[in-house]
Amino acid sequence: MSAYEKAERYFDHAAEVMGLSDNMRILLKTPLREVKVQIALEMDDGQIGTYIGYRIQHDNARGPMKGGLRFHPAVDADEVLMLASLMTWKTAVVNLPYGGAKGGISIDVSKLSHRELESITRKFVDELHDVFGPDTDIPAPDMGTNAQVMAWIMNQYAKYHGYSPACVTGKPVELHGAYGRNEATGRGVAIITRSALEKLKKPVSGARVAIQGFGNVGSFTAEILHEMGAEIIAVSDAFGAIKNEEGLDIPELLKHMEEYKKVEGFDGAEEIDNSTLLTADVDVLIPAAIGGVLTKENADDIRAKLIIEAANNPTTPDADEIFERKEILVIPDILANAGGVTVSYFEWVQNRQHFKWELEEVRKRLEKIMVTGFDRVWKIAEEKKISPRIAAYVLGIGRVGRATVLGGI
Ligand code: GLU
Repeated sequence: MSAYEKAERYFDHAAEVMGLSDNMRILLKTPLREVKVQIALEMDDGQIGTYIGYRIQHDNARGPMKGGLRFHPAVDADEVLMLASLMTWKTAVVNLPYGGAKGGISIDVSKLSHRELESITRKFVDELHDVFGPDTDIPAPDMGTNAQVMAWIMNQYAKYHGYSPACVTGKPVELHGAYGRNEATGRGVAIITRSALEKLKKPVSGARVAIQGFGNVGSFTAEILHEMGAEIIAVSDAFGAIKNEEGLDIPELLKHMEEYKKVEGFDGAEEIDNSTLLTADVDVLIPAAIGGVLTKENADDIRAKLIIEAANNPTTPDADEIFERKEILVIPDILANAGGVTVSYFEWVQNRQHFKWELEEVRKRLEKIMVTGFDRVWKIAEEKKISPRIAAYVLGIGRVGRATVLGGI
């Protein structure tokens, strides 16, 4: 089953609960436009590198389409479509005036020089600039891309369309970026973790947490949960995993990361393997890396009582059923990691007004949107006796469906 077909199972389950007609289901599931382009460039060693770039626009009923760019070897049309559809439901769940899209390049950025990364980014924009635009489709960072890449996108887009900072979000603060965008996904995850723990009658202070992935999302999640008083017991990255039963010293670990770029070798911890991290004896498990890590093979061994999906699509539908049976509470990606796109929205609003908000303002507004989204999803889950995931889909699909009908087909 493809990644998109797996994610469709959640959509179909929610559509069933809602009694959505077949016609509506097909309309809402079918993407608006799928673009696939060749990107060729001269590599530093003089060879020609040929790569495939994608942008898939899933839905625009509620506003311009929004979603990140992923530069990763696993990127293909199926994965991008799945991620684009998640963006449609995610922006609707937290009620941002956007639709959903996603893009990327199938490439291993760790093998690229700075110049090669810049060149491939600019060529990607050369191929796709007509598809993008502040009122049509606004890219942002995702795995393998960052604020620097967004700055190149803005600059290259301007060569075709003139000065237009709102054409991309997640830019550096020095170049029309918003304060707080960098930490936003992690902060949103921490806020949602706190809200979910409250429902389990457990304070965040003292809660034991394991985080898989220590990139932009995982590291800020760890830092902010640590500030809230949680004990971060274990973390991992692409190279290895570490654990300290007493709780890791997160500020020290962040310093270690600055220097060594990996969690391994950190003084205050023992090294463990990645599967041990997933099955650690903790209150909260936070997958914050790639998709498809919680599967029917490992779901029975998970000991956490709460899973917060900081990554996109980390849980397969089979694993999700096992978690439901085991009464493990799963807060889905389309709610849990919506902090990133929320602050992207703030950045876009500020760019359009040529105005900059203070960090405190950004944090306050993010908090409000995340808490409101959580409460809304929780209420639907309770009323309809469904999981928070299906409740989030019911909320998202309902909003997109109503906008579609009101706008006229
Ligand atoms: N890539 C992020 C996501 O999956 C952020 C998207 C955005 O800011 O537009 O939600």
